[in-house]
Amino acid sequence: MSTKWSKSYLFTLRDAPADAEIPSHQLMSRAGLIKKVAPGMYTYGNFALRAIRKMETIVREELDKRGCTEILMPMVHPAELWQETGRWKKMGDGLLKFKNRNGHDFCLGATHEEVVTDYVRRDVKSYRDLPVTLYQIQTKYRDEIRPRFGLMRGREFSMKDAYSFDANSEGALKSYDTMYDAYKAIFNRLGVEFRIVQADAGAIGGSKTHEFQLLAEAGEDHLMVCDTCDYAANVEIAPSYGGNAPNASHVDVITSFKAGSEPKNWHQMEAFETKGLKQISTLAKSLQMKESDLVKTLFFSANSGLDPADKDLKPFAVLLRGDDELNPIKLKNALGLSHEPLMLTDQEVKDNSGAWPGSCGPVGLKMPIYVDEGLVGRENFIVGANRDAEHLKNVNFGRDFKAEKVADLRKARVGDLCPNCKKGHYKSYRGIEVGHVFYLGTVYSAAMQANFLTQEGESKPIEMGCYGIGVTRTVQASIEQNHDKDGIIWPMGIAPYRVHIVALDPENVEVMQAVEIVARDLESRGHDVFIDDRAERPGVKFKDADLLGLPVRINIGGRGLQNGEVEIIARKTKEMQKVKLEDAVERASSLIRSLFPTVKA
Ligand code: ATP
Ligand code: MG
Repeated sequence: MSTKWSKSYLFTLRDAPADAEIPSHQLMSRAGLIKKVAPGMYTYGNFALRAIRKMETIVREELDKRGCTEILMPMVHPAELWQETGRWKKMGDGLLKFKNRNGHDFCLGATHEEVVTDYVRRDVKSYRDLPVTLYQIQTKYRDEIRPRFGLMRGREFSMKDAYSFDANSEGALKSYDTMYDAYKAIFNRLGVEFRIVQADAGAIGGSKTHEFQLLAEAGEDHLMVCDTCDYAANVEIAPSYGGNAPNASHVDVITSFKAGSEPKNWHQMEAFETKGLKQISTLAKSLQMKESDLVKTLFFSANSGLDPADKDLKPFAVLLRGDDELNPIKLKNALGLSHEPLMLTDQEVKDNSGAWPGSCGPVGLKMPIYVDEGLVGRENFIVGANRDAEHLKNVNFGRDFKAEKVADLRKARVGDLCPNCKKGHYKSYRGIEVGHVFYLGTVYSAAMQANFLTQEGESKPIEMGCYGIGVTRTVQASIEQNHDKDGIIWPMGIAPYRVHIVALDPENVEVMQAVEIVARDLESRGHDVFIDDRAERPGVKFKDADLLGLPVRINIGGRGLQNGEVEIIARKTKEMQKVKLEDAVERASSLIRSLFPTVKA
């Protein structure tokens, strides 16, 4: 059935709401796709819902085909399940918690590891019951601190979440690969441009994880992509220095220096005055050196977060090249922390080092010092003296201060060598995380005693993986990636309708007959059709058609029909062809095929 605008519920707007900062949010609002109910909560209009349903169909087809089983879990969860894994506390305010009339604690489902693990532990007893992958498409609630960009970061949103259960890690990694392939197929079918990137696995569980990122300028994620091979990583973890561990003997000098072993070219350490030179840039200028030749000292504090007894924050220092930026996630991982460390305030720096920031350095510090790999091989360098307005020169590792550990701690940069092919270099892109695959190991199953009996009769926790796709985020991200100044350009895979027929003279019986016939024939070929039959001026209808962004438009009007002609327009290129009425369906179908080759018609 085609849909007529006059009978549907669709209101387009000239202006976007003031809080819509990015194009996709503005366009979705103007096209009547979403309407804000409260921050991070939206009513989806019919066009948005149709796109969501199409996406869900693609997801179901690709997962079912690969042997996954769909279920549906509750949205309200009892606190007890989340307490079993410790996440009732750990998730903090992200979980929306409340009590029911009996005073029992509940939360809204932000994710479903606990509930699905509980489900499986009740049934799965033996290795014969494995492997299994369960999934659902469901509303999630996360009490995001700052919901923004419409459906991109909502509080209530739709997610496809899947969970795999295997007897061993090899099996789990196979399930992981299957889901990875399914995701590739899903995003290809949507017709969007995406990259699969390596990502931070955090402190929990397994070690393997990939993010599926839709490339778009407004993306919140920063990606490093090789210009030669297909390597790509979230900048959170992208290795620097081509991923090469530095020369071991150089590292030895840093971490296990022995007095008397210093090379002849190491000069005597000396202090000099640097009044007013607090920034690396001004210091470099005054010394006529490059910023990269200077060494900067940063101060942080952290507890491990892994041991509940460990409550005291302990300060430590990090040394980097003067022009490098610290990557807090690399630091967290290198130190095995569960949270990113906090930067010390200026006052704390002064209290701990003896000087205000700008004159600090490693010599004489009473705290662990971590060194970025970029400094390996440095000799006779300049650092703050830990006395205001003073620096030291000819400072050397081991002799003048002791370093705890050398690691890759800096934020990777455009132009860094690719760690995979070691030929190409990083280019930088912005991405929107639309999907995430994660090998979990046994963190949840062990915490919740989801065990099974192996062939040998041994009881073991089940190996797990979890896999998410943000359905509503993907729909908006597709628009973020595919639009122009006039409106949305729907990718064919999730276009709410494939064809938009503009009836130019809806009161003309001949026109409406032609519209009905074309619509019916298009539908018989499997294309859904939206008909603008409103009594509006052509200019208004064309503007709305551009805004709504359905891939193919057909203008049918009285004047054209006098010559037996209609117009077909591709939304993306705005290319227009005049065709005979009787050829319209075939020509529109062939345009659809050319726009999106996997569509059968
Ligand atoms: P982010 O880093 O963007 O907060 P996440 O890593 O916490 O996301 P996951 O737990 O991996 O998210 O959830 C799986 C998918 O759900 C994400 O890849 C994303 O597409 C989607 N998603 C997560 N949070 C939101 C949100 N607040 N609004 C819309 N979609 C979301
Ligand atoms: Mg994620």
